[in-house]
Amino acid sequence: MSTPANVTPDARPAIKHPAPHASWETRGYWEGAGRGELVLQRCRSCGTVQHRPRGVCATCLAGEPEHFVASGRGTVYTFTVTNQNMAAGFAEACPYVMAYVDLEEGPRLLTNIVDCDPDSVSIGMAVVVAFVTTERDDGEAFAVPVFIPA
Ligand SMILES: [Zn+2]
Repeated sequence: MSTPANVTPDARPAIKHPAPHASWETRGYWEGAGRGELVLQRCRSCGTVQHRPRGVCATCLAGEPEHFVASGRGTVYTFTVTNQNMAAGFAEACPYVMAYVDLEEGPRLLTNIVDCDPDSVSIGMAVVVAFVTTERDDGEAFAVPVFIPA
């Protein structure tokens, strides 16, 4: 397993994501991100790996899927480059890349590709997870998984 990295600042500021609401279903995912780990769920009954996090397996409806640390590796399924977005937290990050990444374990994740020229991103490109971390006022870290070229 590769070691997930924190994103190093490039010329553009990172998107300032609004803080997520960690429900009982998504808590494992967000706590993993805070530790610098990409956490997915695997069904204990049929073995399906799923994302987004749910209380049941979306394939066989078995309860209590287990959480595990994913490899963090994937490939770009598709992407778009946003050149203009006036929303606070996003305007300063333009141009930025929104992408669907096919994870090595199977699920497809909507994310950002960062730390590279947006013109260098391509479908099928190998990428690896990294984390944009924001310190919170309670001492915990809030982190958003993003991807960088592998
Ligand atoms: Zn299942």
